[in-house]
Amino acid sequence: MDRITAALLEWYDRCSRVLPWRGFHDAYRTWVSEAMLQQTRVETVLAYYPRFLERFPTLAALADAPEQDVIKAWEGLGYYSRARNLWKGAKQVMQEYGGVLPRDPDQLRRVCGIGPYSAGAIASIAYDMSVPAVDGNVIRVLSRLYGVRTNALETENRRRIECLAAALVPAERPGDHNQALMDLGATVCVPGTPDCGRCPLSAFCDAFRSGDAAELPVLPKAKPQKVIPYAVVLIRSGGRVLMRQRTERLLQGLWCFPMFEGEYTPEDLRPQIMKKLRLDAALPVFAVSARHVFTHQVWEMRIYETGAQAPASAPAGYEFVPLGSLKDLPLPAAMNAAVAALTRQAYSPCTPCRIRRDPLWR
Ligand code: SF4
Repeated sequence: MDRITAALLEWYDRCSRVLPWRGFHDAYRTWVSEAMLQQTRVETVLAYYPRFLERFPTLAALADAPEQDVIKAWEGLGYYSRARNLWKGAKQVMQEYGGVLPRDPDQLRRVCGIGPYSAGAIASIAYDMSVPAVDGNVIRVLSRLYGVRTNALETENRRRIECLAAALVPAERPGDHNQALMDLGATVCVPGTPDCGRCPLSAFCDAFRSGDAAELPVLPKAKPQKVIPYAVVLIRSGGRVLMRQRTERLLQGLWCFPMFEGEYTPEDLRPQIMKKLRLDAALPVFAVSARHVFTHQVWEMRIYETGAQAPASAPAGYEFVPLGSLKDLPLPAAMNAAVAALTRQAYSPCTPCRIRRDPLWR
């Protein structure tokens, strides 16, 4: 076994994090955990993972469930395409692989929602295959360890890092090795200034010797987030409120209140409601402001309330939803302030930092 791998495994045996998805050789559980962990903090996933598995204990149960139930179980975790792909992938595995996730990483990558990283994680952790799993943590650790000082995401560098990762994976305990690298990146070789004094790999580390670990990995500059103002309108009709299930890529399948891009006064907003929703509504009243941060954009929302003149029928693409049914629909965290205004509850802003912007940060 390579000296680096031996030192890493020795450290992992002493310092590994106790996480509920560890200690099993169960490909489905590994898949769910890895899907949840993409772009999301471990602390956030800890609250969702047991609930999700309780609701969908097996791959077959997930494949059998309605899509909306799966998105509902994912509510608040963000990046909902992960939930949809997990569900589609589960159906695919039932149809094409007899309900069992394949062992071969190349076959795994053909399953909807499983990319190279997840394929490596599932194959090594659940099936003891000696293959790497290269995520942001691993790119960061290996860039520092081997002194990769050019854009780590460029194809050639990325390939080089993947080759370095593959060369390190041992024949024995490949899953533990991959998880050890993930843990090291998450707890010691962290973004910014790493804690090299606690690192089992410092004796082998190029960046530690050179003293430039904090500058690595080299990454392209993140694009600034686009800030979009919206008027969100709560349009009541009796005990119901107008809603729409989104078809856009962002938050697809989740339910939102009508939204008008731009800044409006109540006087400007009313004719928009009439024109775009074909509803005769009273002058909207401002309720509350809210801000929601996505990876690449920020919604600056002003939330208004109004009532549709009876008898109101929903415009095409919308539904009047009974207030009592709101809890059964998958709603994005971006609508939390609007729901609180609607139900007259106190609103505490969601934490935008749940979602990681930096692709190399877990
Ligand atoms: Fe990262 Fe420091 Fe360890 Fe190198 S010595 S791998 S920079 S924590």
